Amino acid sequence: MSSVPSVPTLTLNNGVEIPQLGLGVFQVDPQETTASVLSALEVGYRHIDTAEMYGNEKEVGRAVRESGVPRDEVFITSKLNNGFHAHDDALTAFARTLEDLDTDYVDLFLIHWPLLPSRGDYADTWRALEEIYHSGRAKAIGVSNFNPHHLNRLFEETEVVPAVNQIEIHPYFAQDDVRAFNTEHGIATEAWAPLTQGKVLDDPVVTSVAERLERTPAQVVLRWHIQRGDIVFPKSVTPSRIEENFRIFDFELTAGDMAAITSLDRNWRTGLDPDTNNG
Ligand code: NDP
Repeated sequence: MSSVPSVPTLTLNNGVEIPQLGLGVFQVDPQETTASVLSALEVGYRHIDTAEMYGNEKEVGRAVRESGVPRDEVFITSKLNNGFHAHDDALTAFARTLEDLDTDYVDLFLIHWPLLPSRGDYADTWRALEEIYHSGRAKAIGVSNFNPHHLNRLFEETEVVPAVNQIEIHPYFAQDDVRAFNTEHGIATEAWAPLTQGKVLDDPVVTSVAERLERTPAQVVLRWHIQRGDIVFPKSVTPSRIEENFRIFDFELTAGDMAAITSLDRNWRTGLDPDTNNG
């Protein structure tokens, strides 16, 4: 195997370092999760993005343990599931996440969705995450699927500025307005569904850049995210793709390539809208 350039890290607003590339495990069957995560750790990934909602935290924990990679060399993110926004429920759910992952701490813990006000009060939920953070059992805390109006409410009512905001971003849904808002407030942007769940990979703009650079469409799209400065964790259960997605640090897109891919934005989501998702 040829040598693989190492993954850059970004520094979050509390000084914690996060690898800019990881593996996502949404929709990975628990029976496939341990093998996928082990395969990624073997290639060199040191960042795994899971959630209680994905139902595979135990299998992620097992893979990290079995890999022999020291726990403090793997950045693990998990997320608070929608049914547990009440303060005490959030604390209990977090304890369950640690138990399932078989670890004393997570590197990053997120509120998965803000949800509609009728379902819960995410400012109260955030105060529970602040307690978790101050206890040292989450090295950083953040949010997911928050729009600027949700974040403004946290700024007004709570203490700790989220370290990250994990939102849907890909060439068909660039979300440059929310990204700019995050940056303005020192919040790192994480891009979920970075490959548009596969749907952007046969776009002619992407395939023509890939052909010219002798890279795959997935590598080109992931490189676009990296050069925009976002954090990505493409999901794959296919070992060859897990390796392919890791090999994106030895080439660059030109400014013209970047602009061409950004121009594909059509405000098209693969997933739910945070302003209407009620869990
Ligand atoms: P992605 O955009 O990562 O796409 C995953 C799909 O692309 C799978 O079908 C996979 O197939 C395929 N794929 C992966 N690599 C390649 C490749 N090199 N060539 C061709 N096809 C490829 O979608 P996700 O929705 O999974 O997003 C990534 C991660 O983001 C999630 O796993 C999760 O961690 C996070 N996420 C967070 C959300 C949130 O609300 N916070 C919501 C959704 C996702 P295969 O597996 O068969 O190889």
